[in-house]
Amino acid sequence: MSNTNPATPVRVRFAPSPTGKLHVGGARTAIYNWAFARANNGTFILRIDDTDPTRSTEENTQIILRAMRWLGLDWDEGPEAGGDFGPYFQTQRLDLYREAAQRLVEQGRAYYCFCTPQQLEEARQAAVDRHDSFQGYQRTCRNIDPAEAQARVDAGEPYTIRIKVPEDRGDVVVHDAVHGDVIFNAKELDDFIIFRSDGTPTYNFATVVDDAAMGITHVIRGDDHLSNTPRQVVVYEALGAPVPTFAHISMILGADGKKLSKRHGATSVEEYRDAGYLSDAFVNYLALLGWAPDGESTIVSRQRLASEFSLDHVSKNPAIMDPAKLDYVNAEYLHALSNEEFAREILLPELVRAGLEDEAAPLHDAAWYELAAEAFKPRTTLSPDVVGQARYLYTADEDLEYDPKAVKRWLSKQGAGDALDAAEQALQQIPKDQWHAAAIEAALDPLPAELGMGKGKVFQPIRVAAVGGSASPGIGETLELLGKEHTIARIDRAKPLAG
Ligand code: GLU
Repeated sequence: MSNTNPATPVRVRFAPSPTGKLHVGGARTAIYNWAFARANNGTFILRIDDTDPTRSTEENTQIILRAMRWLGLDWDEGPEAGGDFGPYFQTQRLDLYREAAQRLVEQGRAYYCFCTPQQLEEARQAAVDRHDSFQGYQRTCRNIDPAEAQARVDAGEPYTIRIKVPEDRGDVVVHDAVHGDVIFNAKELDDFIIFRSDGTPTYNFATVVDDAAMGITHVIRGDDHLSNTPRQVVVYEALGAPVPTFAHISMILGADGKKLSKRHGATSVEEYRDAGYLSDAFVNYLALLGWAPDGESTIVSRQRLASEFSLDHVSKNPAIMDPAKLDYVNAEYLHALSNEEFAREILLPELVRAGLEDEAAPLHDAAWYELAAEAFKPRTTLSPDVVGQARYLYTADEDLEYDPKAVKRWLSKQGAGDALDAAEQALQQIPKDQWHAAAIEAALDPLPAELGMGKGKVFQPIRVAAVGGSASPGIGETLELLGKEHTIARIDRAKPLAG
């Protein structure tokens, strides 16, 4: 659903609680909010819902901000960005919630409740015993004379503040952009607590006070909050604030249909970043879990997301996290990089991270890294894959380890020794300054015919000698990267193993 009233600019918020890391479900919620704001020339707000003092930490807040930055979800208002509707941490807004609750009490839209936990439990149990279908708050304190209630508060009696759901409220219909109209039976709405006895607001209250004060037009969040929404609608009504459009998006589940958890592998954005996924690919993949600009595309750029995202095409069905598809999308993004980009953004940083290169003093020239990029890129799904592929280039000839399976299959076979001898002779003919993939292949190509052996039997022993295993890019590129001297040295070293 696009913004229906162009006179009201779109304002959306992502409001994580810093009680843990940013998980994939939260990340997708953030992406949808961001994309919706961008597609509607709206404002994307980041608000930190840190009112749970026991579980919220500054460290988690920083982790969430870092994850948001890595995802490339720039926020227009919020921590660090500032804005006219701050502060953007709920713990810095406690006075606002207190004032709002107080105002509702004064207006007769909320009231003080002095029931003790024990009294509440007894009342609930009595409702159970008489098979009352309503087991919520029995409105015990609703009709206490306001002057008397105030006197008890002033005398220091503990209290909570409850919303007064209007007698004639009727069913609450939530017009959800994803789920359609969802009807909540009025009978199930009790006079719920908006302010606790310890002086803190409840989630349903603080969220609405903030969303109203921040002028939020669309609340896009996980559908675990759909059941909270009728209560929030009642709070909007009590505050006299317009009810925003809600869009409750589905949960992300594992392949087994269960809630995504550690059992399924990585769950936090950080873990995916560290595993070597590209931000663009990760955002692309998550965005398309439950939304698509059309039925076809699996690759949708950030720019397209930011211009075409619409709530109309968001699915209400649970989304299933499919690691193989994520890998596929990641590989697509990697393969779309130019050799120069791949060398600069992927290869070198990964080699530095693995301790094989020093950022300040690269061991090779730019052309070499671009050749390596060209060789390794097609075989790279996750950025760190390049380290395994390049390791043979960062190993001393005498330290190269041979994969025993590759030795058995190719090197110790009869004829492998002849292949190595012939290869060495042919390669020796290539002048050092002409040591390029094409020249190497031209030198090696005639050997199978000359030796009367199959191609694999000739080239695989050379490959095992050079890289230690049987998988590598084309033999020309593989040996060009290694250089002439190392290639010859390794062939010599492998000869005693050859059959
Ligand atoms: N802090 C809440 C959460 O993380 C926000 C929910 C909402 O968007 O209203 O679940």
